[in-house]
Amino acid sequence: MAGYFGLVPAAGSGARMGQALPKQYLSIGGRPLLWYALRRLCAHRSLQRTFVVLQPEDQLFGGHNWSEFGDALVPLFCGGATRAESVARALQRMREELQADDWVLVHDAARPCLTTDLIDRLITELAQDEAGGLLAIPVADTLKRDDGTGRVLRTEQRDLLWQAQTPQMFRFAPLLSALQAVDLNNTSDEASAMELLGHRPRLVMGSAANLKVTYPEDLALVELILSGEAR
Ligand code: C5P
Repeated sequence: MAGYFGLVPAAGSGARMGQALPKQYLSIGGRPLLWYALRRLCAHRSLQRTFVVLQPEDQLFGGHNWSEFGDALVPLFCGGATRAESVARALQRMREELQADDWVLVHDAARPCLTTDLIDRLITELAQDEAGGLLAIPVADTLKRDDGTGRVLRTEQRDLLWQAQTPQMFRFAPLLSALQAVDLNNTSDEASAMELLGHRPRLVMGSAANLKVTYPEDLALVELILSGEAR
């Protein structure tokens, strides 16, 4: 039977947050965002282990306490220049441990509100799927195309448009092949690498609460969601 493994790229600098601290280390309730992103994966009964990818020169990871995750968490200090490169390098390192048809759930370190229910939904809906897939939500807002000067060029059709989230779940060997074949500087997620190779990943309903922390104001929203969960 195929196994399940988590993979969390956490080697970014978080430049858009405008903070010196990479966003995976920003603190909520005394813990780094990364801890929240990891906790549901590390505790999930179907996942054998979760790998976290860090910059080779990361000095911050060791300053936090990860002991509660025990052997379920494996740090890899092999991050690259882009998210896709970080994931590709980690998959190379995971080669010895994983079988070709094992599933890998790649999840952003900057998405701290992932729930066990969402992981269950992804695993259940993709269990018999050839291609694999990802959590995503249908686009809710009206979409405007900028003409390049800050004025509306036109309103875009939003029917059939989805916003990609994570985890994105693919089998180990096809995912590694896809990331070896594409330009890692122009690949924003695993699904797009798979698409370029002709796969058609399945869209699995995610949640607006599974947001990615990108701008400083996102942190307050995350705090609110997490405090609701705790009640
Ligand atoms: O910056 P962005 O929000 O797109 O990053 C998404 C995820 O990819 C974050 O978890 C970030 O730490 C990770 N990343 C990485 N290596 C990079 C850039 C981003 O692991 N070089």
